[in-house]
Order: sequence, then structure tokens, then C-alpha cells
Amino acid sequence: MKVIRANSAGFCWGVDRAINIAREYAQKGNKAVYTDGPLIHNRQMMDVLEKEKIKEVGDYQSKSELHIDEQEKEDSVMVVRAHGISPERRKYLKSLGMQFRDATCPDVGIIAGKIKQHARKGYKTVIFGDPKHPEVIGLMGYANNNGHVIQSKEDIDALPDLGNDVCMVSQSTMFMHEFEELAAYLQESYPETQVFNTICGATRDRQTDLVKLVDEGAEAIVVIGGHHSANTRKLAKLAKMQNKPTFHIETADEIDALDLDVFEVVGVTAGASTPDFIIDQVCSKLEARG
Ligand code: SF4
Repeated sequence: MKVIRANSAGFCWGVDRAINIAREYAQKGNKAVYTDGPLIHNRQMMDVLEKEKIKEVGDYQSKSELHIDEQEKEDSVMVVRAHGISPERRKYLKSLGMQFRDATCPDVGIIAGKIKQHARKGYKTVIFGDPKHPEVIGLMGYANNNGHVIQSKEDIDALPDLGNDVCMVSQSTMFMHEFEELAAYLQESYPETQVFNTICGATRDRQTDLVKLVDEGAEAIVVIGGHHSANTRKLAKLAKMQNKPTFHIETADEIDALDLDVFEVVGVTAGASTPDFIIDQVCSKLEARG
């Protein structure tokens, strides 16, 4: 079977940076490293990190109280996940009395900055994204209790009157065309809306490269990444939108169960938090088939 691997498959710079920050402390050897919820959305990579003494505490949305032994706190560091957190959560983590290190992706930091800057001036914030995703939960914390999350035109129709000062941003991993469509729709009711397309470069590259796989002759697409990973799920959705049979898997072990024998050329891509070792395993296994 011929396998075409997308150029951008695998870690984005924000994920790479967060892992390097956590590893930096763990490798110094004298610090226990804790992350408030998963540092990145890939279970297999979090397992690798756990073996390096980088330990996830708390919950998926970074909302729960953390219980860390007082003695352990002295020799440990709390590292903030790549998805970022709200200012309230930051305050809480800092109050734990541990060393604190922020590994929020700078691209998420830019979105938070836009919201904060406008909320200070009294703007209402509209975020295009998934209200249950940790990035969006964190971003809402910057909106000064004047934030709304929308995913559709119906959600926009259901908004209360926002007045004249409105600012719209996007979760970093959304589809460009959907953001543009919803921004235009919001501007029909609020023509003065300040629109900031905050979909990150890594997301755009992965989406563009997926379409390229189809142009290069891929008959089916295998998307590798965590089922919780927003950008991986989006890639799988985009692949289906190209009318190609799509298989979203987390590891190479799942390949045997897939009905791939009818295809001669398969495209492979992966979410921004999928490690290279899993992509390599998947590609080798696919190449060995047929
Ligand atoms: S997907 Fe984008 S926003 Fe998220 S960590 Fe990667 S570069 Fe940062």
C-alpha cells in the first residue's frame, strides 16, 4: 500500500514547547512536575511523560481542586497546560504555594490578550468554539463575565442584545470557512463587531495539507490522534468533507481492524498533539499491508 504522509502531521510548536518546558524541570532531576489536567491531548504521550515523572493531576477541564502533599509541594513545579487556563485558575494554582510555570501556547495567549484588551473597554466577547473545551473555558475567564460561546447561526440568534461594542475571536483549532461564515452572520446584527481570526497557523497548515493529500491521490485518509483532541477531530471531519473514507485512530494497534484493503493509496495525517513515534508506527504498518 502506498502511504502519503502530510508534511505537517504531528506536534505543533505550542505542544512541542509545552513538553519541553515540563521536561526541562523533570530532567533537572530535583523537581516533581505536575500538570493541571492533561498538558496536551494525547493519552499515549501523557503516558510517556508520566514515566519521566511528569504527572497529571486534576481533571480534563482544569476545574477541580488539587490535593498535593504539603511536603511534596516544596520540591515540585506546577506547569500550565498548552491549552491555557482562566485568570481565576491561575490565581488558584499560584495559591498552592508551589513553583509555577506557564506552558500555555503563545497562540492561545494572543487570543486571551485580545479578549482581555476589549473586555477592559466594555466590549462583549463572542468566542467561536466548543464551550466544554479547556481552551474555551480558559478564554471565557478573560471576558469579564461578558463572554458568549457560539458554534452555529442558531447560537448567534439566541444571543442577548450585545449592544455596539462586540469583539469576536475563535478557538485556535476551528475551521476557517465556518469562522468566516459566522463572523459575517454576526456582523449582520452587529456591523461594528471587531473580528479577530485567531485560528492558529498550525491548525491552518494541517487543514491545508489534508486537502493536498486528496489532491495527491489519497483514496482514503487515516487521521491519528486523541479522541479528545479538538484539532484531530476537526481533521477527521475535514477528511470526511472531502468525500473520502476516513479512519480516526489513536494508535497503530487499531489498524488491523480497519477495512483498508480496497485502497492502493492512503493519506496519513495527525493532530497537533500526536507524537512522531505513533505516526511512524502507523505508516510502517500501513506500508507493510498489501
Ligand atoms: S494547535 Fe495551535 S494553539 Fe494549539 S498548541 Fe498548537 S500552535 Fe498552539
